[in-house]
Amino acid sequence: MSIATSQKRRPLPVLNGAPPGFHLLAKPSGSTCNINCTYCFFLSKEALYPNEKSRMSEDTLEEYIRQLLESHRTPQVTIAWQGGEPTLMRLDFFRRAVEIANKYKKPGQTILHTFQTNGILLDDEWCTFFKEHNFLVGLSVDGPREIHDAYRLDRAGRGTFDKVMKGWEMLRKYKVDFNILCTVNAANEKHGRAVYRFFRDELHAEWMQFIPIVERATKDTLEIANKGWADEAGRNRLLYTQTGHLVTERTVGGKQYGKFLVDIFEEWIRHDVGSVYVQLFDVTLEAYFGSHSLCIHAPTCGNGPALEHNGDLYSCDHYVEPKYKLGNIHETHMQDMMASSEQRKFGQDKQDTLTAQCKRCEVRNLCNGGCPKDRFSLSRDGEPGQNYLCSGLEYFYTRTQPAMRTMYQLLQRNLPPSRIMAITAGEDERRDPEKPCPCGSDEQFQICHGGLNNVSPFDGVNTEPAYYQTANMEGVSAPGQIVP
Ligand code: SF4
Ligand code: SF4
Repeated sequence: MSIATSQKRRPLPVLNGAPPGFHLLAKPSGSTCNINCTYCFFLSKEALYPNEKSRMSEDTLEEYIRQLLESHRTPQVTIAWQGGEPTLMRLDFFRRAVEIANKYKKPGQTILHTFQTNGILLDDEWCTFFKEHNFLVGLSVDGPREIHDAYRLDRAGRGTFDKVMKGWEMLRKYKVDFNILCTVNAANEKHGRAVYRFFRDELHAEWMQFIPIVERATKDTLEIANKGWADEAGRNRLLYTQTGHLVTERTVGGKQYGKFLVDIFEEWIRHDVGSVYVQLFDVTLEAYFGSHSLCIHAPTCGNGPALEHNGDLYSCDHYVEPKYKLGNIHETHMQDMMASSEQRKFGQDKQDTLTAQCKRCEVRNLCNGGCPKDRFSLSRDGEPGQNYLCSGLEYFYTRTQPAMRTMYQLLQRNLPPSRIMAITAGEDERRDPEKPCPCGSDEQFQICHGGLNNVSPFDGVNTEPAYYQTANMEGVSAPGQIVP
């Protein structure tokens, strides 16, 4: 009997430093995947478990779910499956997971099941199961065919777009809740609007998240890294670690990442506020209220551990490396590891290692320096540890600030933030159509996002809090008009 199993009947004390809740990503099939995306850093993690068939046993499954539910003091617990590719486990594994969750959930506790997949193996059986148990399924798509097939390849080097679209059709057929997880990389970085429109109009996606691809390399690893971290035959894969100051040719440009986001924001703010959920836009608005639900832009982190197939727990999905292994759930309870000084320091370091540039940055409260894994550049003062994506993050947070502030004020008055669309339409009418579009595309506004001004689509809207404190927001009646 494992130590953790022997704890079954003993009430778990609340440990100092243990977070009330956390978002654990479990990898039941380890790093094993049925395709071979060129930029996938996780495929290399097989090197951590040589000669092992990476499949979570039923014993580990039960231990994991029991400890996860015991460790939470929040009303909702997310059980999140990821990979590698989790559909490589049989469906019976997840049927059992649901049974175990129902067995151990505490009175009043609700469970959200989430599942990240490349979509290739989705069929009637999988989607019937997802629908029956209200799974939220994340589907990995990088854009229309030409863009998606740049890096999301099968083992023979062929694009996977058609197969993924079959999986998407299955999700639609069974009305499974799904979101699109799109990486932002060198192939799609200049096509934010096209990518967004494809998801919205062709895939009918109502939830999307955009994740920047930043693959670090050293002088010694860059050549093989550019080939996809392995030789031509897909062998001799390097173990990816967060080291090096160089990036692969697939990596998104720092400033371009911000432009990609602003490009989408300019579309969203005119047409889709309230009907399409874009994760970063939502958490940015939330940050105006001082709350941060996404670790990357929170002041500290450390509440997003990753669980390997054998029960090994790591500080974060991006740090599945020997140095960041916290222990194994068969030996130490998950809550103890989450409360450990090692893990708390991991999270606190995010704040404590900010550069001087970040500390004086005007959008620091929104950005908080970004993810530590991307902090390998020099700051404007020449200080090491600046986020590689900084110029893009600064661009995004600065450009979106007027609109975000307006939505913040609308919400404070219990008004729908979607009113920003009417305000924006009114501002657009007064813009110079021949000036550059504010999305940063270098195109005229009239042929880009289609407005009538050259600086920001929100010029002329007074977004200072003092103004709104005296304004009657019910007076937001005509496009662009805020009547005090
Ligand atoms: S290292 Fe990055 S991804 Fe991991 S928990 Fe911290 S902010 Fe989140
Ligand atoms: S925008 Fe750049 S300087 Fe500002 S907090 Fe973010 S990473 Fe730091």
